[in-house]
Amino acid sequence: MSGFSVLRLAFALLAGLCLPTVAWAAPYASCGDASPAAKAAAVKNGESLDSIDWAPFGPKELGWQVYEPRIGQEIDTHCGAGTPAFAHALSVFQARYGLEADGVFGSATFQVLKGLWQERRPFVMQRVAGFCPDAPPADLLAPIPSAQETFERTDRALRHDVLEAYERMLAAARSEVRTVHDDPKSLSIFSGYRSPESDARRCAVEQNCDGGRRAVCSPHRTGSAIDLNVGWITGEFADTTMLENRKWQVRSPSYLWLVANARRFGFVNYAFEPWHWEYVGPPTETP
Ligand SMILES: [Zn+2]
Repeated sequence: MSGFSVLRLAFALLAGLCLPTVAWAAPYASCGDASPAAKAAAVKNGESLDSIDWAPFGPKELGWQVYEPRIGQEIDTHCGAGTPAFAHALSVFQARYGLEADGVFGSATFQVLKGLWQERRPFVMQRVAGFCPDAPPADLLAPIPSAQETFERTDRALRHDVLEAYERMLAAARSEVRTVHDDPKSLSIFSGYRSPESDARRCAVEQNCDGGRRAVCSPHRTGSAIDLNVGWITGEFADTTMLENRKWQVRSPSYLWLVANARRFGFVNYAFEPWHWEYVGPPTETP
């Protein structure tokens, strides 16, 4: 890791420590201060973090680093996945959901986490029910200003209310995260509303079907899904699903800020794609 990356990571962690939305479940003074059982679980978690061989969203993956920030947020700890405090917080979560409360990460625990995350996406619940939402009428769509488009395209659109919520979120991110403040393209949008017709055309002509989802029913047809620029590794693209690209993206200060704060502005993330966020409306009493 370069010195610059270390600095960025340190900044991101510091930003996380200062955020009022972060709750603290771990009863320990430091991330390493824990029971012997939690320490033993931490060793196992540290080992599996980049070696578990699985396919949590379909494609084969190695390790669970991509999901570490989302899991930390869900189990209320700022401590890293290989720490005893993380293992303790995970055991509390496991007990709450009737899992074996050993603090050891595994696919059974992830299935519960994934279920919670997917249930917060109304689009996914509609698909589970066999329903594909219609595209919104044209008068509900607003053009995305080219300055807020990653590649300055002028033909992007979003639902009016979604664009307004996005702009509130972007303003907050710029005021709270140095890298977002300094880079006008950080958290800019590289995809918004896509008509069912254009998705079908892209699928047929370019053979770019997004694993078949684009051809059948994409969340982008709703006008409430946005793909945000959280950076990408050299030689790849903003939405490259290759593991190394996603592992890099989830360490970016912009993504870490979104994980901690986007819900306040009504946005939730599809965990497999660090760039893909969906507007679900302002938070209600029940998370
Ligand atoms: Zn997307």
